[in-house]
Amino acid sequence: MLSSIQAFDLLVPSRLLFGWGRRCELPSMAPLLGSRCFAIVGSQTLLREGLFAEIRSLINTASNVAEPPQIISREPLVEDVDQAVLRARECGADFILGIGGGAAIDLAKAVAAIAPQDEAYSVIDYLEGVRRELPLVQPSLQTLVMPTTAGTGSEATRNAVISSVAPRYKKSLRAASMMPDIALVDPELTVTTPPEITLHSGMDALTQCIESYLSCRASSFTRPLALEGFHHAWTALPIVMREPSSRPAREAMSFAALLSGISLTNSGLGMAHGVAAALGVHAQIPHGLACAAMLPVALQTNLECSRPRLQQLDVARRGPFVSEPGSAEALIEAVISLCQRTGIPQRLRELGVSVDQLNAIVTSSSRNSMRANPRPIEDPELLEILSRAW
Ligand SMILES: [Zn+2]
Repeated sequence: MLSSIQAFDLLVPSRLLFGWGRRCELPSMAPLLGSRCFAIVGSQTLLREGLFAEIRSLINTASNVAEPPQIISREPLVEDVDQAVLRARECGADFILGIGGGAAIDLAKAVAAIAPQDEAYSVIDYLEGVRRELPLVQPSLQTLVMPTTAGTGSEATRNAVISSVAPRYKKSLRAASMMPDIALVDPELTVTTPPEITLHSGMDALTQCIESYLSCRASSFTRPLALEGFHHAWTALPIVMREPSSRPAREAMSFAALLSGISLTNSGLGMAHGVAAALGVHAQIPHGLACAAMLPVALQTNLECSRPRLQQLDVARRGPFVSEPGSAEALIEAVISLCQRTGIPQRLRELGVSVDQLNAIVTSSSRNSMRANPRPIEDPELLEILSRAW
């Protein structure tokens, strides 16, 4: 019997290029976006190994890279955005190149969004739930993003996560206009990612695929993408940890991360990401690690309401040649075992969270992610869940 397809919206980059070594196509891509490029580079490693020099020379054949590039080696703070916006305006940039992990790409998207707005305002004035929450009236500058890690999927999302130290928060700048114009995903750029970042970002991609698959806002379009991404991430993550230079494993992880970004931006996430945002704010736990540590707890919390979908994930995990039906409990056990094998802490106290921080963690959990969880979780229940997980 046919079931009805619910209405959905889909937002993706205007152009997606995926493939090993495809950074060499930059000379033909850059002129499509503008003539003055301001680059945001996310990794010292990239500079050390001469990769950025290579990329810059590829861009320079067609247009100018503003000098010197902005380098970011932490999750972007409000002042990082304001400072980079100033520089982008000063050099008259008409397009922004973001190259690096999620932090660099988020910063690039934020700069592209804020630079054309009224000069009287800071990025703070546009962040969700902070101050004025002004709308982004002017369209973003053109953006081309190239991820060097396989994790956040930021190359295909419409938000940027921006933090503040005093007061402490981690908030999103979000608008449909922030979707990158071109996402160029060259998995070869991820080969030199250090093991710990490979693991944390890989677990982030895996969590994003699972949460966007289970999300109450997922659509008939996003669910198959999330399931496909989950299959790739699950299969490739152990291989990429053992053999960091494996081309098929790096390709699979980059593909999973891209699919996770497309799904999550169109479907939302869930409890693991909701709490992970607060763990970043209050205990400075890296995003991917926080997501991975929360994933088993989130799956157990959603077990009864998501049983058929968890069974589907279990089938996807075991691949096409297993005939038994999937089991939700087996999937959760497998996730716990993956966390144990890769050294992801199972308890909040092992992550350095103190018990008296739990109330604040509940309060600062991301409402946006919590609203997409398969079932509603009110604050008192979340506190109970986190107390058990402590
Ligand atoms: Zn994430």
